[in-house]
Amino acid sequence: MTDHHIHIGQFNEIYFDAYSVFQSIEETCVQTGITEVHYSSTSSCRDDAELSKVEEEIAYAQAFKSKKIVVKPYLWYIPKYAEENISVKSALKAFDYCGIKLHPFAQKWDFENPCHKKALEEIFECCTENKSVLIHCGKTPETIPSRFEPFFKNFPNANIILAHSNPVNITIKMLKKYKNIKSDTAYSDEKDIITLMKSGVKEKVLFGTDFPLTHYFDRLLFGKKRTMNEQYIEDCRKIKLFN
Ligand SMILES: [Zn+2]
Repeated sequence: MTDHHIHIGQFNEIYFDAYSVFQSIEETCVQTGITEVHYSSTSSCRDDAELSKVEEEIAYAQAFKSKKIVVKPYLWYIPKYAEENISVKSALKAFDYCGIKLHPFAQKWDFENPCHKKALEEIFECCTENKSVLIHCGKTPETIPSRFEPFFKNFPNANIILAHSNPVNITIKMLKKYKNIKSDTAYSDEKDIITLMKSGVKEKVLFGTDFPLTHYFDRLLFGKKRTMNEQYIEDCRKIKLFN
């Protein structure tokens, strides 16, 4: 089983070291059944984010060697890179990325800005075959999945993943309308995952957790005192909904 949504890097005041994140996943793999993870670095959300620094993090993360799990990176591309004239194609060269992550809430993507628009088109153009574009989705106007519909339509060969399957009703609509779209269950409610599974789109739903941000939020918001390993086992309980 693959976990399609994992993070490393700086997240608010916490730094999630790639090795400790991967180690938790490796140490719990017998319980969870996870053999592959696709990750991105939240350090890309820092105001002073620099591609070269994130690339250093990924180089460090990719040096993680394991006989039990495979780890694959996403390039988290931000509008700042486009403004700095770092093209998507050149940014993709550094690693064998499994795709590109877009976070239209953390970063202001302006569809009217020609420089942003060009980068977005390049992203959808590049994310074919073994690459996907992973879009953070939610209920706010900038993250609502339907906002990206012109791209879904214009790039039928792009592999698109709507992260979080949120809101669930619009996600289902998009999954049914476009054959090139999938969604993931990162930080999704059990109730929403059940709704997805019962809506005839089951084969387009990918398992994802959002670990270790789940550890961060469960502790901060709900006072849970789990270890990282305990948290990951907890996050992976939702795999049962896929059976
Ligand atoms: Zn995430």
